[in-house]
Amino acid sequence: MTQKHNKTAIVTGASRGIGAEIARHLAADGIAVVVNYANSSTQAAAVVADIEARGGQAVAVQANLLQAEAADSLFDAAKAAFGRVDILVNNAGMMELAPIGQTSDVSFARHVALNLTAPFQLMRKAATQLVDGGRIINLSSSVVGLYQPGYAPYAATKAALEALTHILAKELGPRRITVNAVAPGPVETEFFLDGKSEELVDHIRSMNPFGRLGTPEDIARVVHFLASSDGGWISGQVIRTNGGII
Ligand code: NDP
Repeated sequence: MTQKHNKTAIVTGASRGIGAEIARHLAADGIAVVVNYANSSTQAAAVVADIEARGGQAVAVQANLLQAEAADSLFDAAKAAFGRVDILVNNAGMMELAPIGQTSDVSFARHVALNLTAPFQLMRKAATQLVDGGRIINLSSSVVGLYQPGYAPYAATKAALEALTHILAKELGPRRITVNAVAPGPVETEFFLDGKSEELVDHIRSMNPFGRLGTPEDIARVVHFLASSDGGWISGQVIRTNGGII
């Protein structure tokens, strides 16, 4: 039986992959969830149906985070559906790999817009709209600490997101709002698998001390903990959630 405690979460990019699993985990704990998506309406509806079938509450909200009004519309939709916002999970993100010499302005700008500007606008909104004792969790990446060739725009935007995380944690601490980042290593979602050969995926898997890739559930459990009352004394941290690969 799902325990109801009247909390509400916005999870960006929750139609697929890690975000969908985060939405399911929060909902299983009785948290009403706004399942944001850009294009995958069928998959977002399936996540909502899954949550409702288990006794939880969720609503799918289309908002393309590349558009400036997305932050306002997501908070408006959350309040209209559930009355308040307690938790913001900035999960949606993108990655295109290329050496800096081969990177286009368009690709760089897209990384900045989705991985940095959109979470910034949502955090700014959350700074005034989140209830006292709320939670903000940003999805960074373990590649921030690796300085791997080909990852420059992605790693740079995630590093900047970590900087925002540390600063906002200090700004919102007086209201008992925690702000943290979860930084996964490779996780078996389309995001990671797309464009990689089976050999390369096997190689990356073998590099992990656990001999496997992360799963969306590995990451969702940590986000859930940070979102829970047990995570209330953790703030301004980056939790590298990767099986010890770095
Ligand atoms: P997926 O590609 O599997 O899912 C991405 C999600 O983001 C989808 O729900 C998608 O919605 C949504 N999205 C994409 N563009 C937009 C947009 N413009 N507006 C709103 N939503 C959008 O990604 P993952 O689940 O793998 O990754 C989630 C997060 O975890 C990202 O921030 C990523 O950087 C981070 N991460 C992932 C790792 C991995 O190996 N998978 C490793 C380290 C970090 P739609 O379906 O509608 O397009």
